[in-house]
Amino acid sequence: MSMVDVDYKGSIMIGKEKHLRMYIGGEWVESQSKTVFATYNPANGQLLAKIARGSEEDVKLAVEAADSAFESSEWQSFHPANRGKLLYDIALKIRDKKEELSQLETADTGKPITQARADVEAAAKYFDYYAGVADKVFGETIPIEPGILDYTVREPIGITAHIVPWNYPIQIMARSTAAAIATGNAVIVKPAEDTPLTALKLAELIDETDLPNGILNIVTGYGQEAGVALVKHRKVSHVTFTGSVITGIAVMSEAAKNVTPVTLELGGKSPNIIFADCDMEEASEWVVKSIIQNAGQTCSAGSRLLIEENIKDEFLELIKVRMEKLTVGPGIEDSDIGPIISEKQFNRIAELVSAAREEGARIVTGGERVIIEGSKEGCFYRPTILDQVGPNQCIAQEEVFGPVVTAFSFYDESEALELANNSEYGLVAGIWTKDIGKAHRLAGKIKAGQIFINNYGAGGGIQMPFGGYKKSGFGREKGLEALRNYTQLKNVAVKF
Ligand code: NAD
Repeated sequence: MSMVDVDYKGSIMIGKEKHLRMYIGGEWVESQSKTVFATYNPANGQLLAKIARGSEEDVKLAVEAADSAFESSEWQSFHPANRGKLLYDIALKIRDKKEELSQLETADTGKPITQARADVEAAAKYFDYYAGVADKVFGETIPIEPGILDYTVREPIGITAHIVPWNYPIQIMARSTAAAIATGNAVIVKPAEDTPLTALKLAELIDETDLPNGILNIVTGYGQEAGVALVKHRKVSHVTFTGSVITGIAVMSEAAKNVTPVTLELGGKSPNIIFADCDMEEASEWVVKSIIQNAGQTCSAGSRLLIEENIKDEFLELIKVRMEKLTVGPGIEDSDIGPIISEKQFNRIAELVSAAREEGARIVTGGERVIIEGSKEGCFYRPTILDQVGPNQCIAQEEVFGPVVTAFSFYDESEALELANNSEYGLVAGIWTKDIGKAHRLAGKIKAGQIFINNYGAGGGIQMPFGGYKKSGFGREKGLEALRNYTQLKNVAVKF
């Protein structure tokens, strides 16, 4: 896909260049500074589009648009069930344009087209799911004393900001904006600078529905400019940030100055725990899937593999064989593993692996760049297993964000637990055993927001609350839990 193939309603020609504008208050607008940034195809380095580079001035306009849309009598008197209908319409439109959105997502992120299609379908499902709950956000009545009726109502929080990373752009935008709109908020999205294409396309589809102007706004731009300005703005009532720990800390510190609540969905270093009594074929299949999905650039990737000592060699062989059958290449050809998002990210992976090697790690398979004929600009990395790594070494503790899994062995349940919890992160954990008692004991003691027993889903289904313990963040996205992020509770006491 090249620049000219990208067909957007919000685009304008500047000389021979096509520029994609932002979406504010129902209008397609250039940035106030009239500057742009570029987004490239990570498979081949081709320029995909130039995008409006938003900053503080643009954020101000987006907040004004969101504020007047939120306060308007139209939105304030909107029936919750009608908000639901709008969200259903959005889901239908996403499915109508599924292939176009998937192709854009693959071009922008590099991910295999099958995975992009699954992401687009997941985005549609978020809108379906939260459409269904728009008129089911209940309060309570609380027994105080005779003659007092006490009740609570969940009210929208106001203007919500949604800062999205580059690894699952359309899914992550959909998961929080659908919940926020369902509960009656006005939203402003800041897509990642590496991958803004599907957010703008989604805005185009949403523009065709009856959602009032200003309820959804997109400000494109860099984190240090548009992102910071959004978090700083006094009228933003909630920030949902998905991204790295270091940026999460910066976002939380900035938001604290205005006492703005935040939901932080950060990184992970999730363990898959393999007991000798598990179904090894099935476990090995999922262990591989959990680390190669989106070339390992997944917050909930199963990047630590803990194997019971007496089956370690056999199990490593099983996953080695599976990994060596995988294809590496451009996502549009539906290879199993696409390119790494950028050279910077690729270098980080390569450096972490080579440092581990110098510290004595054994490369079971992989550990090198793959050069693809016709895609020489793309940074492809072979799926990699590392063994003989100390549990406190850098590669065992840092989020690599690439197709790299580190193996450890354990002798018993308590050692498995100790290794599993030996991380600053706590997003997801997989437990593989036929002993259901053992599985539940561990599930109760592992410090992670989602536990999978004899299965593993990157983040799980849209209905399952998802979020982290420890440095993986706090607050929960997905499922009904997410509604708490986007509502505030009011208590009313009536004497009669
Ligand atoms: P990142 O932190 O660099 O950027 C994320 C977003 O924040 C981008 O839109 C960026 O422009 C913006 N940003 C950057 N600096 C900012 C600032 N100072 N203020 C406001 N916004 C700012 O993260 P990334 O590299 O895009 O994504 C990878 C990380 O995201 C990984 O650590 C991964 O684990 C995590 N992640 C978590 C989840 C989850 O749900 N837990 C999902 C996907 C990715």
